[in-house]
Amino acid sequence: MGNATPDASRKPATAARIYDYFLGGVHNFPADQEAARAMLTSAPAMLPIARVNRAFLRRAVSCLTEAGVRQFLDIGSGIPTAGNVHEIAQRAVPDARVVYVDIDPVAVAESLELLEGNRWATAIRADLRTPRTIVDHPQVRKLIDFSQPVALLLVGVLYFVPDDAEAYAAVAELTGACAPGSYLVVSHSTIDEKAYDPDALRSTQDVYKRQTATPLTVRTRDGIRRFFDGFELLEPGLVWQPEWRPEPTDPEHFRDEPERSRMLAAVGRLP
Ligand code: SAM
Repeated sequence: MGNATPDASRKPATAARIYDYFLGGVHNFPADQEAARAMLTSAPAMLPIARVNRAFLRRAVSCLTEAGVRQFLDIGSGIPTAGNVHEIAQRAVPDARVVYVDIDPVAVAESLELLEGNRWATAIRADLRTPRTIVDHPQVRKLIDFSQPVALLLVGVLYFVPDDAEAYAAVAELTGACAPGSYLVVSHSTIDEKAYDPDALRSTQDVYKRQTATPLTVRTRDGIRRFFDGFELLEPGLVWQPEWRPEPTDPEHFRDEPERSRMLAAVGRLP
């Protein structure tokens, strides 16, 4: 499976490659496949959750492109797959700027390969927990003009920053660098009562903790809303992921029970 090489069998699992496995991608190695399968045993919903998350990302980027945003900083961007941010944005606006940021070297390498020849998009390796290394990165500065509105995408990544102080400070620092009229896009797993399946959560967290370098946390609705302090939420606000401006082409999963997506999502605008 995947593009595993003899060397790859020794690589520890990573969140990026486990997610790639859930999405049916080929850039995952035996350790990722093993970790992903261990999660699916007790939490089979991880597969549709990943797809529904990806569909939200697509809708949010289309919406922001229509709203006139021309610059996208996608942090925790993952391994390229169907419906990447630059494809959606540049389809509408060929010179839309996109910078992908991920902690995983494989995600960055695959992104750079895909972006070869694309002068308006690039990828860098950086850690969300050190936001200045992102904002001040020469490649980011080359493409992103922080005096103009930026879409800051933190989709499916803040739950990999378990320390609250670190997570809120990182988002405040990143949004503090953005001009008025910028947008923040977040999706985040929640322990909102309706979504809470303690056994599935515990075993998923256990696999991330034991088999990757990025433990997974969950936050309450209020805790997720707090990332948007200072932002005005676009309609319909902070909602279950499938409920955020659904489209007929979305995956069918969770249409009748959106809380089973276990992820809340919102888009906010900086006044
Ligand atoms: N944003 C993409 C999406 O929604 O389709 C990918 C989400 S994937 C679930 C989470 C990504 O966040 C992984 O690629 C992982 O490597 C990355 N990640 C985890 N912790 C990170 C950190 N501290 N800084 C940057 N990226 C991180």
